[in-house]
Amino acid sequence: MSDYQRMWEKVLELVKQSTDPMVFSAFFSSVEPVNFADGLFSIRTNNALTAEYVKKNLGSFIEENLSKEAGSPVTLKVIVNGEPEEEIVSDSVSEDRENKTKVLRAQEPPKLNRAYVFSNFIIGPSNQYAHAAAYDVANNPGTSYNPLFIYGGSGLGKTHLLHAIGNAIYERDNSKRILYITCENFCSDFQASLSYKNNVHSFREKYRSNYDAILIDDVQHLSLVNRTQDEFFQLFEYLFANNCQIVMTCDKSPRELKNISDRLITRFEWGLVTDIQPPDFETRQAIIKKKCQDRGFAIEDDVCSFLAGKIQNHVREIEGVLTRLRIYASVQNQPISIKLAKECMKEYVSNQNISLDVIKRAVAAYFDISISDLTSHRRPKNIAKPRQLAMFLCRSMTNSSLNEIAASFGGKDHTTVLYACKKIEETKNGDDELSFQIDALKKYIMKNCREESDR
Ligand code: ADP
Ligand code: MG
Repeated sequence: MSDYQRMWEKVLELVKQSTDPMVFSAFFSSVEPVNFADGLFSIRTNNALTAEYVKKNLGSFIEENLSKEAGSPVTLKVIVNGEPEEEIVSDSVSEDRENKTKVLRAQEPPKLNRAYVFSNFIIGPSNQYAHAAAYDVANNPGTSYNPLFIYGGSGLGKTHLLHAIGNAIYERDNSKRILYITCENFCSDFQASLSYKNNVHSFREKYRSNYDAILIDDVQHLSLVNRTQDEFFQLFEYLFANNCQIVMTCDKSPRELKNISDRLITRFEWGLVTDIQPPDFETRQAIIKKKCQDRGFAIEDDVCSFLAGKIQNHVREIEGVLTRLRIYASVQNQPISIKLAKECMKEYVSNQNISLDVIKRAVAAYFDISISDLTSHRRPKNIAKPRQLAMFLCRSMTNSSLNEIAASFGGKDHTTVLYACKKIEETKNGDDELSFQIDALKKYIMKNCREESDR
């Protein structure tokens, strides 16, 4: 086996561990490494769908790991058998190239998800006010409503709107400075800065460096630690005084936020507070149609209505279901029909239906320990490891925040959950037993949830 084949084997193993088994076998059985020269790693497949999927969803992951293996930056090239050898480089690389060719932009482009823009956000009665406010703010940053506070349930498009605002401001004027940050990252950034004396200073500099807009996602995760809230408050005052547009998203309205100081809540309500509700049936249909169109395929109206009827609250899950449906169609070599959609939906378990309790019960049963062992503070190895694993699964299989998970494990600190997740993430790749356990537990949990929702 040559060096590049060995490199590929290693990276493929990482891909396998982080991908749904069905997706993995559907897409990677036909992929083979072809060559590695001058920083360009070529792989070949006989299927255009595979090439597109790998490029879009795994391109940067594969490049990152190939680069680690090679010890220098690697670009991935996907060749489709029978098609002209046109280079399909992963999004991250093409973005990079695009950026390099844009002549001397004023500064680094903001780190935003370019796929989240206003033009692909479907407007319906459930989100029209939030959309209108976001659009207005994007056109008049710092002057319309400041702050803009968008709240609503998970998967309803808050993050999409936040990025859309940033993208629109930057598109119109690329000298504008925009920062997108999750509140969780803000808090851990601040807490980390406290551990080194002088870092608080650079922390402040970082957030106060003349931004035109700061987009803060999921402020419900604002740390309960007073000092973090004080810092956030002061940052808010500073930004506001400097006409920086502040946009926040949250899973509840300011009034419903618990453990957040009154002065912050008052600030949150200073500008405009607007909500997003779950989309109605017609809007769900329109979103499904648009997502299919963006991915270059069409589905019949009956399939679209069937899916819109099944996926009710979580727009986010529409994307997963559509990917799955395409894989089913490709593996079974069939058109996307209502029959196929029904088969595909049998496997569907909404993330919303997976509770922290179901996960704890499954892990406790699997390791033959009690749930109170999992939530206790005891640390013998036979308990500590399942506890870490349970926290990791809670984080990856539900939409719960670090704080919510920490609270459900006997009121631990959110940093304990963060540590557990990192630890499992780091060790699972080289530890066959652990990755087997994760796989087995995920399947078991999904099965339990399906049975519960069928009842
Ligand atoms: P939230 O931040 O509210 O949890 P996201 O913004 O992450 O939700 O949205 C989840 C997914 O659903 C994203 O892929 C987003 O593009 C999509 N989505 C949500 N609402 C809409 C909409 N109205 N139109 C198009 N896509 C949407
Ligand atoms: Mg979000």
